[in-house]
Amino acid sequence: MELWFTEQHTENVRFSIKVDKHLFSGQSEYQRIDVFESKEFGTVLTLDGLMMVAEKDEFIYHDMIVHVPMATNLGIKKVLVIGAGDGGTVRELTRYKTIEAIDMVEIDRMVVEVCREYLPQTACSLDDPRVKIYYEDGLKFIRAKENYYDLIIVDSTDPFGPGEGLFTREFYGSCYKALKQDGILVNQHENPYYETYAVSMRQAHRRIKEFFPICRVYQAHIPTYPSGHWLFGFASKKYDPLDFDEKAWKSLGLKTRYYNTDIHKGSFALPTYVRELLAGE
Ligand code: SAM
Repeated sequence: MELWFTEQHTENVRFSIKVDKHLFSGQSEYQRIDVFESKEFGTVLTLDGLMMVAEKDEFIYHDMIVHVPMATNLGIKKVLVIGAGDGGTVRELTRYKTIEAIDMVEIDRMVVEVCREYLPQTACSLDDPRVKIYYEDGLKFIRAKENYYDLIIVDSTDPFGPGEGLFTREFYGSCYKALKQDGILVNQHENPYYETYAVSMRQAHRRIKEFFPICRVYQAHIPTYPSGHWLFGFASKKYDPLDFDEKAWKSLGLKTRYYNTDIHKGSFALPTYVRELLAGE
């Protein structure tokens, strides 16, 4: 018997991974959580049937969501991470000795518990003494913060279900207020290729631009995400990500499998059709 996990990317496109075992299935207050074991991608976490993390390609997403903003400002000390229950973003952040505090706000405690058990590769740094986990809605948590964080990373689900509020004008305005005068906001920015995702991507870009003077988009190739072409938003009050100290980052000696300072620069060079989608905003 063959067992396959299938995610519907559009009404006419499906993406399937052959799985060996269904390791976990549970329903939390917020979403259905599943963990599969597969030959091609290793352990895979899905939420409401959508791919979140795969052992084999998670390094691409986590390298790009963390090292691009960190290399842009190596002075970052206080970080807020919203979502990210698998722990991969926190794992990469804790590699910087200069970071003093990481607040992680994850709405769903069960995601963290399941990842601690089945995805130790990503959850391995959640017990770092600098990390404080809050089980709350990121939209509510951030309302009370002002002029406090150097970096906010939004590592959320898509803009429906529990993640919907993390794509609103209110949320981006609260992020602006919660950041210091030279603060940076990075968020997962959906894909530009399939229309429904592209609509969310453009809407997010338009809303972020209302608040931040520097607003860029960068990209990475992530095989398990819809279309394999994923975008990240980079919004900033002061620092331009293309004007960064490459030597200083290299001198840290961090070993990364996807990120390097050439990829950093190159990832902001977008295909013409993506530029056009964004220019329309
Ligand atoms: N890398 C993934 C991706 O782009 O597909 C995201 C992974 S991470 C598991 C996303 C997390 O965001 C989930 O664990 C989910 O529970 C959390 N989340 C969704 N909405 C949230 C909210 N409003 N506040 C805090 N966390 C939220």
